[in-house]
Amino acid sequence: MQKLEPITDFAPITPTAAITPKTHGWRAKCLQRLVRLELPVPQTVALPATTVRAIAAGQTVDCEGILRNFGAGPLISVRPSPENPDWGGPATVLNIGMNAARHALLAQTHGIDAADALYLRFIQSYAIHVARLDPDMFDQAEASGEALRAALHAYREEMDEAFPEDPARQLGEVLRSMARAWEGTSARLLRQAKGAPEAAGLGLVVQEMAQGIGQGMSGSGVMQFVDPVTGAAQVTGRYFDQAGGRHAKPQAMYLIRDPRGPSLEDLAPEVFAQLVKHGAVCRVRLREEMQIEFTIEDGRLSVLDAVKVQRSSRAGLRIAVALADDGVITRSEALLRVEPRALSELLHPQVDPRGGRDRFVRGIPASPGAAVGRIVFSSQAAQASAARGEPCILVRRETAPEDIRGMNSAAGVLTERGGVTSHAAVIARGLGLPCVVGASELRLDAREKRLVAPDGRVFREGDIITVDGTAGEALAGAAAMLGPALDDNFRRLLSWADDVRDIGVRANADTPADAQMARNFEAQGIGLCRTEHMFFTDDRLVVMREMIFADTSEDRAAALVRLLPMQRADFVQLFEIMQGLPVCIRLLDPPLHEFLPHSREGMLELAEALDRPLSEVTRRAEALAEFNPMLGMRGVRLGVVLPEIYDMQAQAIFEATIEIARRGGSVVPEIMIPLVSAKREVELVKTRIDAVAAMVRTKAGTDFDYKLGVMVETPRAALRAGEIAQHASFLSFGTNDLTQMTYGLSRDDAGRFMNTYVQKGVFPEDPFHILDVDGVGELLHIGADRGRATRPDLTVSICGEHAGNPESIAFCRTAGFDYVSCSPYRVPLARLAAAHLALRDREFGKPA
Ligand code: PEP
Ligand code: MG
Repeated sequence: MQKLEPITDFAPITPTAAITPKTHGWRAKCLQRLVRLELPVPQTVALPATTVRAIAAGQTVDCEGILRNFGAGPLISVRPSPENPDWGGPATVLNIGMNAARHALLAQTHGIDAADALYLRFIQSYAIHVARLDPDMFDQAEASGEALRAALHAYREEMDEAFPEDPARQLGEVLRSMARAWEGTSARLLRQAKGAPEAAGLGLVVQEMAQGIGQGMSGSGVMQFVDPVTGAAQVTGRYFDQAGGRHAKPQAMYLIRDPRGPSLEDLAPEVFAQLVKHGAVCRVRLREEMQIEFTIEDGRLSVLDAVKVQRSSRAGLRIAVALADDGVITRSEALLRVEPRALSELLHPQVDPRGGRDRFVRGIPASPGAAVGRIVFSSQAAQASAARGEPCILVRRETAPEDIRGMNSAAGVLTERGGVTSHAAVIARGLGLPCVVGASELRLDAREKRLVAPDGRVFREGDIITVDGTAGEALAGAAAMLGPALDDNFRRLLSWADDVRDIGVRANADTPADAQMARNFEAQGIGLCRTEHMFFTDDRLVVMREMIFADTSEDRAAALVRLLPMQRADFVQLFEIMQGLPVCIRLLDPPLHEFLPHSREGMLELAEALDRPLSEVTRRAEALAEFNPMLGMRGVRLGVVLPEIYDMQAQAIFEATIEIARRGGSVVPEIMIPLVSAKREVELVKTRIDAVAAMVRTKAGTDFDYKLGVMVETPRAALRAGEIAQHASFLSFGTNDLTQMTYGLSRDDAGRFMNTYVQKGVFPEDPFHILDVDGVGELLHIGADRGRATRPDLTVSICGEHAGNPESIAFCRTAGFDYVSCSPYRVPLARLAAAHLALRDREFGKPA
């Protein structure tokens, strides 16, 4: 085989070198900008991503050539430089070039303690990150001649060779190990969770060390000008003073003047002032809040690096708003700088400190926020639970890459093993999911589906618990929660989003609490109110069951008369909260047997309440059971077969509308018919609803408007939307059922095999999670087009779970939908995602 020449594609960073974030990575580009701003940056060489990829593939690089840029006997560092700083990268390695000769030289110039410390730290970092040796063998905490010899000895024992002395070899190994780490599976998954493309490359920067040790004023530190948690303007960071070698160890010192102790500002006011000036220049010229990494050597400042300040989502938003307010960036840019998905982390509720806490185990707080849900022990169960719309807590011994899909479906995660950098912790933070790891006192039996707490309490699959990822605790039951803090910056950014977006955003809200949340998040109305949820409270369930058991239309009407005032009160409350914004109410949808008890005790209770024999109640309940209830007597079929139910609901809606008018408000209710598949269904329901409206108008002696629309959830409704639209003023696509029926795939059971299907590439993604734009999407296009051909002013929307995903919002916007309607917590995300789409179109021109 022909031997390949070592790669020579690398270059010193100068003001004019051809360096871009795409070719050499973000850090290299940033260093070049610092060089252009004439900041005191030590000599740096940048390796492009193509070179790094070739190194990972086994090619060698001309390390001698790289080293020639740094003069004789240099000490250098290597840092990762991905295209986007959020994509992470392997750990930095410092002091490459350290060897016995360099150690001896340093001992002369800087003293033996400093020389020992530098050499030891290099050996430790090389052994752990490059040679991948067991960190326990290199845990010598205190630097000393003895510790140094122990580390060198451990290296020789483990590797069967002496610690490499040749700087070029050291550099070559460091580059190879960093290049390979980037290609590893966990690194790949992590950066992809942050939006990195499959082919994302890594650049590397090699820089001369500026040690921050010397006889005069010396030290090292980092400085930033905002609080990384809140984003408030404030100098934060740290400084370690070497005090001219007078201390055995560097002393931590305050940056700004502080009554508690000495500070850099006191000790070296000119250097401090230079740093503040550099920070201000960077903020304006690099248009970003930067953290400056610096050293001071005998009073001389070096800026080694300036990276974007690591920040919480909350701080990220505040920084973007502040930069726009200061005119450093435009409002559009501020919007584009905040990832829609990051908002959900911001919105996470916390456990209310004023409420009780029934803690059953303590672990490590791995990802903030708190969540309540039912215990599930597998990713499949988590996906099934999400498909049913039930929040769940994924409890695992530890998680692995194949659990990512399950984690995505869970409201929170609890693991028995792991630390803050374990897979579960890292992924949960990436997803903004509350997470507690390392709850090692738990006894977990996933096969038996049970969990034993240290105090002996047993929890089973389906039991409700609370994960408090901020405190690192798991609590029994549903803890009282505090709503998220929506501060002024949040509201302002989203109001800027509203100024630019061109698709409406409503919320799915069934209860007054949901509606209030929808208002808090400034949804433009309710796009789906699932009325069945109103009948599950104890008092109503009994009447509902009486209605279901009624033998005659009159008996049914008698039960419904009792439900009427309750429904009316529900709608009055919703309309009051929504204050004139549109409210779209879906008539009853689920199969009736869902309202019946399923246990013997429940049947007995029902028999008592109805004063009927148990055998009759049981028989009637059995008669209502269906083989395939999701395709059975539900939705509009109830409205056709038992029309009194919809009559009652329509009457309640109209009377509530009149009540609101009487109180001085106004509302135009939207009534939506679920699960339609034929035009005649709509005709039948419409005729009765119009009659109810006429009756209510006459009785009340007052007029009101309403709209009647159809929920498109069956493929046939999409195909026949042209004729259905003759009787509907709006169509709303229920993509949960539509996906289920298009694929013939049960939304409650698909979780069992979805992983396999996605892994084998049958589906690119879980279609219940990410809208299938090819198949279901085609039906959406057909439905919208045919509906609009009949009725050009038809309002078209989507209200399935997909509506809150940026990808589906992009689809609906391109298809010309009027609005999306998603769960209240997704509303801010949807508003921002819609703004991003509009801005990107402006930037790149409208998609064809
Ligand atoms: C749907 O099917 O998409 C929908 C919104 O209705 P549900 O989830 O209540 O069936
Ligand atoms: Mg549905």
